[in-house]
Amino acid sequence: MQVDFEKQGGLIPAVIQDAKTDKVLMLGYMNHEALEKTEREGVVTFFSRSKQRLWTKGETSDNFLHVVEILKDCDEDTLLIKVNPAGPTCHTGADTCWGEKNEPGQAGWLNHLKAVIRDRKNNPSEKSYTASLFEKGTNKIAQKVGEEAVELVIEAMDSNDELFKGEAADLLFHYLVLLEQRGLDFDEIIDVLRSRHSR
Ligand code: AMP
Ligand code: ZN
Ligand code: ZN
Ligand code: ZN
Repeated sequence: MQVDFEKQGGLIPAVIQDAKTDKVLMLGYMNHEALEKTEREGVVTFFSRSKQRLWTKGETSDNFLHVVEILKDCDEDTLLIKVNPAGPTCHTGADTCWGEKNEPGQAGWLNHLKAVIRDRKNNPSEKSYTASLFEKGTNKIAQKVGEEAVELVIEAMDSNDELFKGEAADLLFHYLVLLEQRGLDFDEIIDVLRSRHSR
């Protein structure tokens, strides 16, 4: 990737963003060597101004940042790097260097919920309602989606927003469970909507 390092005195800022949740995880600086190493190895390496050397994020903690995509800005002197983080990105143990208050947006939160649902399927525990749904199988899950849809329809006839929102949430939750049961990702459904929109 061609970037104007000289304009920035040899070091350019790299904004690190979680590819799944869109959360901004941290900010680091890269020199030419750091960017080359990052592109070559697929994990983020910065030039650390305090250490005054190349620093591969995760080199001691194993919390590497696996590169999904590298974008340059309009005038080619700043990077946006989308990553899958192997663990908490901040050395304080927080997910991001802006702490836990740096909540993901709505789409990012939905991705978090998807990951929790997947985890309940793969690591079932007796206390988990979601795990019990997977235990009962496709028919039961599909039936629950139908029930929640009917409950939503019933609440739609009424003017109570809180009850309506509750049923809308129930439906969305069970719908995501059904997709997971079928081994489908919500993104694939969004892709269908997107492709219809562009026609
Ligand atoms: P790591 O690269 O995760 O193995 O961490 C090595 C060292 O880099 C830590 O002890 C911190 O001094 C520093 N460090 C790690 N993560 C960050 C971060 N997100 N922002 C600033 N410094 C960090
Ligand atoms: Zn710029
Ligand atoms: Zn930090
Ligand atoms: Zn319900």
